[in-house]
Amino acid sequence: MITRAQIEKLGALHAVEPAMLSLYLATPPSANLIARAAELIAAAGAACGRPLAARDRDWVLDKLPPCARVCTGRTAAVFACAGSGLFEVITLPCPLPERGVLGVRPHIRPLLLALQRGSVPDLASPGVGLVVGLPACLVAVSAGPVQTLVVPDDSLVPGYECGRCGTLSLDADTCCPDWGTAALPVPDVIEEMVSRVLEDGGDVLVASGGSLPGRIGWLRSDCGAEDRPADPGRLGPSSRAAVHGRSGW
Ligand SMILES: [Zn+2]
Repeated sequence: MITRAQIEKLGALHAVEPAMLSLYLATPPSANLIARAAELIAAAGAACGRPLAARDRDWVLDKLPPCARVCTGRTAAVFACAGSGLFEVITLPCPLPERGVLGVRPHIRPLLLALQRGSVPDLASPGVGLVVGLPACLVAVSAGPVQTLVVPDDSLVPGYECGRCGTLSLDADTCCPDWGTAALPVPDVIEEMVSRVLEDGGDVLVASGGSLPGRIGWLRSDCGAEDRPADPGRLGPSSRAAVHGRSGW
């Protein structure tokens, strides 16, 4: 059984190089598990523009067969980083699309989706107090705690993190241009936002299907209760104060 605490722990992990591998594998596998994993790792490296080192790939593949025997769920989520020795397997009772992602953080959105109960607000409907669009989300999350962030379950969007103030953006030179601190490339700014919102005790809702703009937005905390969606399908309490006192996760 997966818990929010487990997901938060994974969300806080960070590698310097894009060597953090996330694999979502069907279990039991329909065919050869190792061959399938190798395919997903190769695709992840291609998408990232930087393949996983052969030695690191083999380290992961060597560890997979025992976990596949133990996993009796529908999907095994594997998070591995050879450099730090991380190898964590989470069994999910629901079937999720098979996927491999290489980045600096674990790709945890499918885990959040698996944990999610209730519906996600429709970003296309007016009057729910949502601000829609990736640029608006990057600005909001960079500025401070966001109560509720809605993200797509799949898209990966490369961008930058300001080396000085930590602002996330799609372009390298949007803030602090005079400080001489290089903007750091981020393989996926969505994952970065998810990690920050979870760390701040906010809620992350994962929307599946559809286009990216229709599935990314944030709930304005200044809107009235009557403007809120009736059932936002919250993952956790919305206030920071409540986060530390909650139970049941
Ligand atoms: Zn900056």
